[in-house]
Amino acid sequence: MSYIEFRNINKYYGSNQVLKNISLNIEKGQFVTLLGPSGCGKSTLLRCLAGLEEISSGHIFMDGNDITNLEPKDRNIGMVFQHYSLFPNMTVEENIAFGLKIKKRPATEIKEKVQTALEMVELHGKEKYYPDSLSGGQQQRVALARSIVQEPKVLLLDEPLSAIDAKLRKSLQNSIKEVHQKLGLTSIFVTHDQDEAMVMSDVIHLFHDGRVEQSSDPITMYTSPVSKFAASFIGNYNLLTPEEFNIITMQKNNLTSGVAIRPETLQITPNKPVTDDEYIFSGVIMDNTPKGNVLQYHVNVKSVILKVDVLFRSKVLFPNGTKVYLSVADKNCIRL
Ligand code: ADP
Ligand code: MG
Repeated sequence: MSYIEFRNINKYYGSNQVLKNISLNIEKGQFVTLLGPSGCGKSTLLRCLAGLEEISSGHIFMDGNDITNLEPKDRNIGMVFQHYSLFPNMTVEENIAFGLKIKKRPATEIKEKVQTALEMVELHGKEKYYPDSLSGGQQQRVALARSIVQEPKVLLLDEPLSAIDAKLRKSLQNSIKEVHQKLGLTSIFVTHDQDEAMVMSDVIHLFHDGRVEQSSDPITMYTSPVSKFAASFIGNYNLLTPEEFNIITMQKNNLTSGVAIRPETLQITPNKPVTDDEYIFSGVIMDNTPKGNVLQYHVNVKSVILKVDVLFRSKVLFPNGTKVYLSVADKNCIRL
């Protein structure tokens, strides 16, 4: 049996069904991400696991036990939210110690555990600070320490980095992964950001409208989306109907399924490539956008606009209006 098992979970708010027969298994020690657009049910599933929300039907198992009807306090689950909700009138140290004090742990034990947690989240020296004198990133570190100091079996993180600016986010991503590994936790992380899901996760569960659309490791998710939705959410694919694909290829084609092509798998050349086993399209450059180390062209191929990514090695561009050829291997044309 898996460490955590969601079995046929349904959840209604009134007549609105927000979780639709979800079955999901999570293994001990995994770092798992629930990825999906806003409103697809990610937070609801987390809250059901934590016991903050009742499920309408189904069962949740953890570590071999049916926890469906267990009180939240008896589940031994830690939670970190987007909004840190620290106690403003308590110091960092007091915020982290709070839960242990409620549990009436001995003072020496509390002191020791708080110190260890502070070091884990790289906040030593900030014991006596108040939350409002810390950056958002630091406050989220306090919230993380406050959770792990309780030694939860499972750590739930609901969009903990969404309110934190891009630069600090990287370093917090690293800290969260480090804490996860050092403590041997089982962690479930929620995000709507595909890049964040890619860098953080052992396994991604892609949610769509209350259902799990695809579950796989990040690379499989990126390279082998199972549906149009998956391809549009992760990997930034060009999505073509069979008619569009048949019209734009220079070779004769009779595809009957939709095709997804990743922008970086298209080759762009000024001359028609000599190749037997690739599809070739002829088009005109519409515009280009630098995206970090990648330059993205929009190429008009018989009125179908294709995104093409090339490594931004030099500033030599195909100016707008240039006639170009695109080629792509059959294996990179994913049938949907
Ligand atoms: P996500 O976290 O993926 O953005 P949520 O789980 O928060 O999505 O919400 C899923 C759906 O459930 C949404 O349509 C939302 O409006 C609805 N919902 C969430 N919480 C409640 C609630 N307490 N009462 C009624 N509807 C809710
Ligand atoms: Mg949410």
